[in-house]
Amino acid sequence: MQKDSRIYIAGHRGLVGSAIRRRLEASEYSNIITCSSQELDLRDQHAVNRFINNQKPEYVFLAAAKVGGIGANNTYPATFMYDNLAIQTNVINAGKENNVKKLLFMGSSCIYPKFAQQPIKEEYLLTGLLEPTNEPYAIAKISGIKMCEVYNRQYGTNFLAVMPTNLYGINDNFDLSNSHVLPALLRKFHEAKRANLPFVEVWGTGKPRREFLYVDDLADACVFLMENFGWQEIGTHVNIGTGEDITIAELANTVKNIVGYKGDIKFNSSMPDGTPRKQLDVSSINRLGWKATTPLEAGIRQTYEWFISRNDD
Ligand code: GDP
Repeated sequence: MQKDSRIYIAGHRGLVGSAIRRRLEASEYSNIITCSSQELDLRDQHAVNRFINNQKPEYVFLAAAKVGGIGANNTYPATFMYDNLAIQTNVINAGKENNVKKLLFMGSSCIYPKFAQQPIKEEYLLTGLLEPTNEPYAIAKISGIKMCEVYNRQYGTNFLAVMPTNLYGINDNFDLSNSHVLPALLRKFHEAKRANLPFVEVWGTGKPRREFLYVDDLADACVFLMENFGWQEIGTHVNIGTGEDITIAELANTVKNIVGYKGDIKFNSSMPDGTPRKQLDVSSINRLGWKATTPLEAGIRQTYEWFISRNDD
């Protein structure tokens, strides 16, 4: 990528897209193309074709997606499947039609089998059954990876696919009904502290293990890959994470301390746990020369500061 290359970020207002934009701007990329979802519905094939044909981006970060936590995935499985399949199919195909030089597709660690050996290597894809709570989302994302792979094979494109672990950070979704665990806990502990509530409810048993990556680290990895590598060096997809995981109970305690809440934690085991563990093997991206740098506590503190600045008067 040159500093004046035409770079389109699909999903620039979301958690991932906004972090990629910050990262590109910090490196003085000057020709960043964005378009809001009000102006362009990425599920509309004709609108996407027109947009890409008019804008002629040379590089595309495909960070637009319908995402949500375990509750939202369970409640809206059809929306998660349709929106993601439509968005990614439209952007990937329009990218190929318009000779995009490189495209980076954002996958997710939930594409791997529910009971995959840990830590999860890239090659474990499609070796077992998926976690039912997010199977529709995962199948859409697996289709995106495979679409990049077969487009590269058949059309000679250079489309990369990355599989980030659970993400958090600035511009995350803090809506309790559909957010992921980390923003949900930040909000729950914050509100419980302000209202002096005796306890905070945490879903599930607290025993599942998750790996959390600060979204600015992910953005750094994505730009690093787009600047330096093609799909032949990376393979069909590459994991991005810290390589370290913690239990939900440990996470809840960490968030509780950062927020400064003094009450109790109650686990509600009638809510789903989801996958017992999903720790990524990140040796491939480490070998390429990239490592996550933000410690979990520091990342949570920065996210909490951002959340307070947005929500407190
Ligand atoms: P997952 O990694 O796809 O399962 O997505 P989530 O981030 O939604 O959930 C991760 C784990 O955190 C699951 O075991 C949830 O049961 C647990 N969890 C605990 N409290 C909450 C909460 O308030 N919201 C969410 N989304 N998950 C929670």
